[in-house]
Amino acid sequence: MHPYTRALLAARPSLHRRLPSLPVIAGSPRSAAHAGPGCPYAARCPVAETRCATEAPAPVAVGPAVVSCHRAYESARGDLDAHLAKGVGEDA
Ligand code: SF4
Repeated sequence: MHPYTRALLAARPSLHRRLPSLPVIAGSPRSAAHAGPGCPYAARCPVAETRCATEAPAPVAVGPAVVSCHRAYESARGDLDAHLAKGVGEDA
């Protein structure tokens, strides 16, 4: 699964546990008027690397899915799970 999709799923409210505030993904969405050359999620992705801001990721096949992410294989292996869990915090 795409790392940003995983972060979005982690940020959704739960019906089964009460939270003091809503989970949020840090940062702001990229402006369409000032789109840069890199991944559109680079400013908010909890596992972004330096190249994410400058190089658009090419689509790669990961199992039955096609994912445009420089770290798609690491994400699919679960290598980024701890970082993704830290990337979603609570609303202040
Ligand atoms: S390419 Fe980089 S910024 Fe974009 S989703 Fe993948 S890791 Fe995150």
